[in-house]
Parts: sequence; C-alpha cells; structure tokens
Amino acid sequence: MNTLKPALFYENLEDTTIRCLLCPHLCQLKNGQTGICQARINHDGIMYSLNYGIITSEALDPVEKKPLYHFHPGRKIFSIGSFGCNLSCIFCQNHTISREGAKTFNKINAQMPCEIVHKASRIEDNIGIAYTYNEPVISVEFILETAHLAKRLGLHNVMVTNGFINPTPLLRLLPLIDAWNVDLKAFSEKFYKKLTGGSLQPILNVLKNIRKSGNHLEITHLVVTGENDNEEEFRAMVHWLHEELGPDTILHISRYHPHYKHHAPPTPPETLLKFYKIAKEKLFWVYLGNIQLSVGNESHCPKCGALLVRRSGYFTEIYELGEEGDCKICGEHLPFIR
Ligand code: SF4
Repeated sequence: MNTLKPALFYENLEDTTIRCLLCPHLCQLKNGQTGICQARINHDGIMYSLNYGIITSEALDPVEKKPLYHFHPGRKIFSIGSFGCNLSCIFCQNHTISREGAKTFNKINAQMPCEIVHKASRIEDNIGIAYTYNEPVISVEFILETAHLAKRLGLHNVMVTNGFINPTPLLRLLPLIDAWNVDLKAFSEKFYKKLTGGSLQPILNVLKNIRKSGNHLEITHLVVTGENDNEEEFRAMVHWLHEELGPDTILHISRYHPHYKHHAPPTPPETLLKFYKIAKEKLFWVYLGNIQLSVGNESHCPKCGALLVRRSGYFTEIYELGEEGDCKICGEHLPFIR
C-alpha cells in the first residue's frame, strides 16, 4: 500500500471534521470520508491526497492533442494522468479513470515527482510535462512538486483542466504552469449543474485570472448535441470571451461523441461550421477539433492574412510563423510560443 500524502488547502472544523478548500465544492468531510473527487480523504482530522503519484496513464503526445495549437506547435509533450475528478460529466471520455477511486488503482505503485521529471527529461524531443487525462487540479500537491522540479530542468508544465479550482490554489500553480487548456463546457449554470455537478461562475473567474497572469491560455468548448448547441447561448459565450479575455482568445470548438452515460448522436458538422463562423466574427483564433473539415485547421495572421500553421489531424506544418511567434510576412507579434 502506498503511503498517503498529507494534503494542502483545507481547514479544520469542530471535532475531526474538515473542509477542503481546493475547489468550489468545499466538501465538508467527517473522519473517514472521501471528497466528491474521490482523491482526498479525512483521516482523524488530517486531509490526505489519495492519488499522489498514482499514474494511471502516460504517453508522449503531440502538443496539439491537449489541445494546444499556439504552444510549441508541432512538438511533443510527456503526458500523465491519475484518477478521480471534481466534476461528474455524464459525457466524460475518460470515465474509466475519472469516475474511479483509490480502490481500483491500489495496485499501482506511486511514482515520486523526481522520477517523473527524470523520465520526462530523458525523452528525446519532449518539451515538458502535461498534467491531463483525469482532472489534474485534484492532484495539486503532486503537481506543485513535480512542476517545480521540471521547471528547474527547463521543462515546460501544461495543465489540461476543467478550471474548477479556488483562487488560492490557482495562485500557487500560476507561477509554475506555462500553458493551460481550460474546458469551458457551456455558458449556462443550468448545464453545469445538470450535466457536470459543478458551476460556471468559478470557471469564468479562473479564465480571467489565468489571462491576467500572462500564462498561455487556450480554451476548449465541446458542443454536446441537444445540450449546449443553442446558438444564442454560444453567441453569449463568444461575446463574454471577446469582452473579458480579448479578441486574441484561442478557442477550440470540439465535436462531441457519445460516451459514458450520454447517448445523443455526435455533433452534426453543420452545427460546428455555424459555431465556427459565429466565433470568427469576434475572435482571431478559432479551431475545430475531433473532426476534419475544410476550415478550422489553419492559423492565419490577423493583420496580413499569411498562412502561419496548417494542421491535419496531429500533423502540423509551420509556414510563415517566425521563431519569436511573429508573422514572417508583416512582422506582427502573435500569441504563439515556439
Ligand atoms: S477537491 Fe475534492 S475534496 Fe476538495 S472540495 Fe473539491 S471535490 Fe471536494
């Protein structure tokens, strides 16, 4: 059995009851209880992380798979995931790890942050470590330590997250994380409550805080058939992104496929094309994911129109994008990191 790691971000209440302060659920746990995420437990008034170093999945992925299209395009990143999640999306693609708890994975030996960083640093052509697959926020202790070591070796740290985290732990992560992909699953509290068990407002606050910090940020929006494919709601979301984060916001509109407990048919291509056009009215950088269509794969300079990057699946070709993230044709500085 792995040794439990004492957790951060909680407060003691009366007797041995505690309240977790890591995410907006603020789970109040009596002795022996586990949080909604299944990754944090109260033992005698002390909170422990149950998934510290438990790596259920690891792979060297194209960075485009995260998806990150403006962060070291065409490169690869060592990607790791654990178990548990603080949301419970009924259409989850990774439910075999996100909806399972410590019992399912108790045969896996924990890997220490130094082992992960050592492994990542020995992989050829690897830009860093991506914390992904299940929800990384709930492994905050492991990520803070790993990201710190990785940074010292010049590796980049990437979080692929649902963004459901409280401001204080977010502030601890921001100096260590180089790039974020945050899911904005819908622009309605009703959707978040009904289909994810979470809420929208804290995620909007997180997006604003990441943007303010200057960290690289890309956003993924999965269009779920019959649930968030309403044009009015989508327009309102794009308007918010434009007003609060700016026209430079990078948005991935992603196709839904039936998964887990949700069986509605995949998002029709026409809906994705319509949403792509709506988003492009206000945002410079809009892409279509989980589908190959005639648009939504290329990046063009917003000033002169030059083709910067072309993608086909995870195959990426760089054209007029300079080494400094500038347009080679007109010199415009663009939100790309190479
Ligand atoms: S991180 Fe887990 S235990 Fe903590 S408040 Fe969120 S769901 Fe509850």
